[in-house]
Amino acid sequence: MGRRLLIAGNWKMNGLRAELAELDAIAAAVASQDTGPGELLVAPPATLLAAAREHLPSDVSVAAQTCHHNTRGPHTGDLSAHMLQEAGADSVILGHSERRTDHRESDEDVCARAQAALAAGLRTIVCVGESEAERRANETLTILGRQLDGSVPGEVTAEKLVIAYEPIWAIGTGLTPTPHDIAELHAFLRNRLALRFGHAFASCVRILYGGSVKPSNAAEFFALDDVDGALIGGASLKATDFLAIARSA
Ligand code: PGA
Repeated sequence: MGRRLLIAGNWKMNGLRAELAELDAIAAAVASQDTGPGELLVAPPATLLAAAREHLPSDVSVAAQTCHHNTRGPHTGDLSAHMLQEAGADSVILGHSERRTDHRESDEDVCARAQAALAAGLRTIVCVGESEAERRANETLTILGRQLDGSVPGEVTAEKLVIAYEPIWAIGTGLTPTPHDIAELHAFLRNRLALRFGHAFASCVRILYGGSVKPSNAAEFFALDDVDGALIGGASLKATDFLAIARSA
């Protein structure tokens, strides 16, 4: 299998030019080969994509946080996948729960955006995750299955697809599922991919865990078989924490 861990920082709506110093710290750690065995990725706000690409070495990925499903046209305020790619992104996060909530993105919307992203050559990181109410109602597997099936386009290759399992109740709360639950849900997601795309495909796709990942808990998640890295929000804003997580891989 040999899936390389992916350590992904999602800056969300944080980051002004002053914060580019955090990227310089990441670049310095990469230069001294002090970042652990995983691949690094930073998703700054769109306004910093070009600067991030300049500040980071080429082996650190730069991702956008969403993209429009059309290539161009009358969509005030939106950005196409090709625009983001031209600005320096090689990847894009899609279907984050904050997008699904704030912008009412459905699985169909996420799928259409993913198709546009793939057409522009971007790697797509598709997020899925249940709410607290859904978890309590024992609907987690139903929700995850529906989101995965509905958000991932059929014509994707394993190299261009990353899945992020992010329980909504764990995002920014300091709460996390138990390692046992994470292991079980990641295995469920991989099996679901295998049913649709075949075993070889599913065994190559990286499935990240996201939700309150920090330096003190990352290692126990990375030790799980089907966990292939992390999507990190709050703890990715400081290079020291982000790098500490990467080094714990
Ligand atoms: P968090 O966010 O690490 O701050 O919990 C994770 C995410 O939303 O990607």
